[in-house]
Amino acid sequence: MAQSRNVRGCGCVAVLLALVVVGGLWAYFKFYKPVPGPKLPTPSGEELSIHVLDVGQGDAILIVAPGGKTALVDASVPGSGKKILAAMARAGVDHLDLLVTTHAHADHIGGADEVIKGTKVYKVLDSKVPNTTKNYEDFLDAIEGRVENPQENFITAAPGQTFDLGGGVLISVLAPIQPLFTKDQLRSGGNEPNANSVVTRLDYGEFSILLTGDAEAQTEERMMEQGARLAAKVLKVGHHGSKYASSEEFLRQAKFKDAVISCGADNRYGHPSQEALDRLKAAGVKVYRTDLQGEITIKTRATEDYQITTERQAAADELYAGRKAQKDDSAKSGFIQYGDFGPAPKASPKSKATNSR
Ligand SMILES: [Zn+2]
Repeated sequence: MAQSRNVRGCGCVAVLLALVVVGGLWAYFKFYKPVPGPKLPTPSGEELSIHVLDVGQGDAILIVAPGGKTALVDASVPGSGKKILAAMARAGVDHLDLLVTTHAHADHIGGADEVIKGTKVYKVLDSKVPNTTKNYEDFLDAIEGRVENPQENFITAAPGQTFDLGGGVLISVLAPIQPLFTKDQLRSGGNEPNANSVVTRLDYGEFSILLTGDAEAQTEERMMEQGARLAAKVLKVGHHGSKYASSEEFLRQAKFKDAVISCGADNRYGHPSQEALDRLKAAGVKVYRTDLQGEITIKTRATEDYQITTERQAAADELYAGRKAQKDDSAKSGFIQYGDFGPAPKASPKSKATNSR
């Protein structure tokens, strides 16, 4: 009798164990999403500096790696070249190993031709989603004229590409993801250059920053679906804090601690929006803004600690207060905003009016 009870007991344990194993395997394959990512280089521990430049209503982010290699992500509006070159001189930088142009709108490639003509640029990484503006043609001409071997060094961005800046600093491309977003797929407020922005991340030991260009929620969703490596310490907020970017789910998944918004003090586009600022605040993300604080500098030695300093001070409540769009004045500004104010204008080729920001 006793022996038979033992046999029955053993059988139950075996069945239970089998259930646990099968259940575990099922859960593993159902919920585990491998996060693709390159093997990160060993950090040198020397200082990396990132300068989010105060260049008005546009983006320009200068990265100086420990070994002296450099990258610039975007070149803001036309006429910004001087400011960017001056910032490079202040940082003791005389060349760019990599220029990332997130997309072909004039608040991102505006000063790119001036930068390419004013310093040595080795590689340009671009979405290759074209634009019909003279500014875009000037950008292409500058590459053709000044970048060595442009067939090889004017690169179409694709997820999985990496750029080693030395000293343990690595830039990885996360988007645009193929097939690119087409016009008919875009949500209200969207446009193809923004939706197909080049999104990169920079990793340096424990430090990381996500650089999103003007990508909005639709692009954030696609990256989440594809299991892109989004978690980072710092976010360069998408589309200057537009209400269409920085979705709640994106902020929840990526767990940013700090966020930098690059926008102009006199912008008429309602950037940053109260909606995006509210979502950042609710997610516990500390916000920095170039329109209120001037140039924002991030320094790190690859540890958990990094320092963010600003050119000017701003009160905490001011930083979470959005700007109001001035719809009536948008047409007079010389820049046409079609992201927030209706359909795209019919831009004639070489038109002076640049485009959405
Ligand atoms: Zn923009």
